[in-house]
Amino acid sequence: MSDLYFKLVNTSLGKTAAQSLGLPSPTQLKRWTRTNQPFTEGNVLIGCASGGKSITELGNTISASAAMLHHASKIPSLTDSARAGTKAVPLDLTAEPVLKFSALVFDATGIKDSLQLRALYDFFHPTVRQLASNGRVLVVGLDPAGCKAPAQAAAQRSLEGFVRSVGKEIGKKGATANLIWMAPTASQQLDSTVRFFLSPRSAYVSGQCVRITRAAKGAKAVSPAAPLRDKVALVTGASRGIGEAIADTLARDGATVIALDIPAAMEQLEVVASRIKGEALPCDITTADAPQTIADFAEQHFGGLDIIVHNAGITRDKTLGNMPAHFWDLAIAVNLTAEELINEELLSRELLRDNGRIVCVSSISGIAGNFGQTNYATSKSGVIGYVEALAKQLRDGRTINAVAPGFIETRMTAAMPLTMREAGRRMNSLSQGGLPMDVAETIAWYCNPTSAGVNGNTVRVCGQSLIGR
Ligand code: NAD
Repeated sequence: MSDLYFKLVNTSLGKTAAQSLGLPSPTQLKRWTRTNQPFTEGNVLIGCASGGKSITELGNTISASAAMLHHASKIPSLTDSARAGTKAVPLDLTAEPVLKFSALVFDATGIKDSLQLRALYDFFHPTVRQLASNGRVLVVGLDPAGCKAPAQAAAQRSLEGFVRSVGKEIGKKGATANLIWMAPTASQQLDSTVRFFLSPRSAYVSGQCVRITRAAKGAKAVSPAAPLRDKVALVTGASRGIGEAIADTLARDGATVIALDIPAAMEQLEVVASRIKGEALPCDITTADAPQTIADFAEQHFGGLDIIVHNAGITRDKTLGNMPAHFWDLAIAVNLTAEELINEELLSRELLRDNGRIVCVSSISGIAGNFGQTNYATSKSGVIGYVEALAKQLRDGRTINAVAPGFIETRMTAAMPLTMREAGRRMNSLSQGGLPMDVAETIAWYCNPTSAGVNGNTVRVCGQSLIGR
């Protein structure tokens, strides 16, 4: 679906008109376009509050990119910045001319109380205006849930408000701000998440807080060009929209994809499956024998699965008082119950291999609620609860996470009334709708074998929608 306003406002005449009328002027987002594209380029500045626990790992990860890495030298609170990777070049931020930065990365794990929050101001105040268009702000803190001292928990929780506010201030540049809350001993698990958030793959992800735990299984290094080589992935609802983009993206990253959809969508499903050299599996996931059909197929063709993406979903919108019972039943059955039953079958038959990945597709409606969507929002909230609970039970490097898309340009949102569609597109920090590939890239990051520490999260892919938290 074409966003006419976005096209108009990106002409020189349209830009001037939008500015003089105080209308939003969304920036064209840079997305991932080519194999072997470095995850970040340009000038990256890293800084660290005193006592930072992840600065070395951050420095090492960024050093593996095509970026020129700098660390702030003249900021009093950055006493540990010299530890920031061997390739970091000290930069005096008070000297002219100041560089444009593609990313500002700050290790806040050392912050122990509210006074030390001043380190955030000291690092970002002189630099935030130098953030380039499509730039990235990334803050790494400690998971407040693991902080014993109330003052430390408060200070680490404060990072959330900081990052979400920065995201709102820089969104007009097409820039994003995100926060990683790591467990104290999880700095070795940061790499895949730092790469994701600094790269164009996370173009439509902003204002998010991701928890990283210490994974039980050490993740092996993977080829950045084909991180999912030798993996087998099942994607439900893969014939179109977001599911099609997920299938394409996982195949691009090297996975063999079983693309599943209802039998009525077989023609389009086969087009997708043959394009990505995968398998087409016609199956209605709400039928009683669906879990067994899927498990048998995976076992017979591939001996098991490495990745399951529960993307198939439906809306059946009506206000509660007007909603027929079958609208309620179908939304819950497709969006929640089917996922539970399929996982149960695959897990009980031990068909999800070690270091396997389960990804569920929720929605910001499941976080914020939505008028006319009591059934849909109930099912999508349930998905989040399910992910949080199952994450604690999975073993041997297996993880489960969710994405919660906001307004994504698909057939589902094209069917919305005009005013709701326009509101959905503009009411976020980036003032535009996302693309199916934005959801797919987030899922590909979860599925990366080195993302074993990312477990039990729900990340919104919504351009930091104003709706919900
Ligand atoms: P879509 O309607 O274009 O695609 C959904 C796919 O699921 C279709 O191919 C459909 O045939 C399949 N499906 C439906 N019922 C099925 C069943 N019983 N068995 C097997 N397959 C079935 O929708 P989309 O916009 O691509 O959405 C994909 C997912 O993202 C859904 O879970 C949706 O709730 C979620 N989502 C979308 C948006 C958005 O803005 N588009 C926002 C939030 C969440």
